[in-house]
Amino acid sequence: MKKAVGCTTRRLSGLVLIALLLVGCSENDRPLEPPVRFEGNIFGTFYQVTIMDPLTQGESLKLEEGFLAELESVDQAMSTYRDDSELIAFNEAPLDEWQPLSNELIEVLAISQSVAEASHGAFDITVGDLVNLWSFGPGARPEEVPADDILTEKLAQVGFDAVEVDSQKMQARRIRDVFVDLSGVAKGHGTDRVAAYLDQQGMEHYLVNIGGELIARGLRDEQAQIPWQVGIEVPEDGQQRAQHILPLANMSVATSGDYRNYFEVEGERFSHTIDPRTGRPVTHQVASVSVFHPSNAWADAWATALLVVGEEDAMQMAIENHLKVLLLVRDGEQWRSIVTPEFVNYFGETLVNELGIEQRRTPTSSSPATASPAPADPSVTGE
Ligand code: ADP
Ligand code: MG
Repeated sequence: MKKAVGCTTRRLSGLVLIALLLVGCSENDRPLEPPVRFEGNIFGTFYQVTIMDPLTQGESLKLEEGFLAELESVDQAMSTYRDDSELIAFNEAPLDEWQPLSNELIEVLAISQSVAEASHGAFDITVGDLVNLWSFGPGARPEEVPADDILTEKLAQVGFDAVEVDSQKMQARRIRDVFVDLSGVAKGHGTDRVAAYLDQQGMEHYLVNIGGELIARGLRDEQAQIPWQVGIEVPEDGQQRAQHILPLANMSVATSGDYRNYFEVEGERFSHTIDPRTGRPVTHQVASVSVFHPSNAWADAWATALLVVGEEDAMQMAIENHLKVLLLVRDGEQWRSIVTPEFVNYFGETLVNELGIEQRRTPTSSSPATASPAPADPSVTGE
């Protein structure tokens, strides 16, 4: 009797299991209506992945798992906010000794050093101690102006020549006691990694947005041939308004601004971008820099570099380095938008003129300011 009951129970639970599996299967096979969107938080900011390719529920779950693993691996390699990251171990390793590092840390260090060189040190990953002093690092946040003597002491160590990278042997070392901070390039690299993963999974139409660093692939609407669109945000407090809306096709964009991450002391604003020449947060009329580049890591690093140096030098560097750049510059109560020739070549004269954007052909020639008209739908910022 006992045995029979046991047997029936087993048979029943087997049937329930099969039924559950069937329900599970059909749920997984259910086609999803595009856009399929994933959202969450990473690197102290948000991520948003929007996919227009046809996907089933099961495929979408697998994709999410896959790109989250990519983001976790970037965080594990280069976060300064977790004690167990590879970058923290590198920062704690003895000076002068070569450290074997992962592919991805070497790749991002190498990009950082290239942009540092090309920007004459405006982008400089050795600013970590200064970032921390100014309350923008992982440590305490006193949100006050650091004392001059500490600033001078830390600044004396800063300089990208304090880090040597050997990409062949996959190793790097610090030759001065600097704290390497990759936060100015990591979001961009993370965006690249997610895009590479989606490409590898056969996705053809998607938009990846990590904290405002974006990559678009394919089209927003393939049937109607509508591209992805990005809004370049106007840098005003408490508002999200797009100053310009641009099509983005198989391209990435990174924007650096002085208006998002900052603190104020007695009415003076201190932003999280540090000028490595002075050791102080940048203060000038350039409110935001957007760099369009096939690689978002390069775009991210360059956007930070160009924000550091100010309007004239930013335009000169951008032109010398053939970058597609849009600057938003404060001009009294107005904004001026200035772009490089590469930007005009890429987006076309017609669009640039329609948007009322000033073109800068040579580093020194400056045409009169033009006020930029607000676009019809000012709320768009991500797509
Ligand atoms: P934004 O999107 O405003 O450019 P990012 O997150 O790209 O901001 O970069 C800002 C971060 O980069 C700072 O929080 C700091 O950790 C680091 N950083 C600040 N100044 C520099 C600099 N001159 N070069 C490289 N990294 C910097
Ligand atoms: Mg950056």
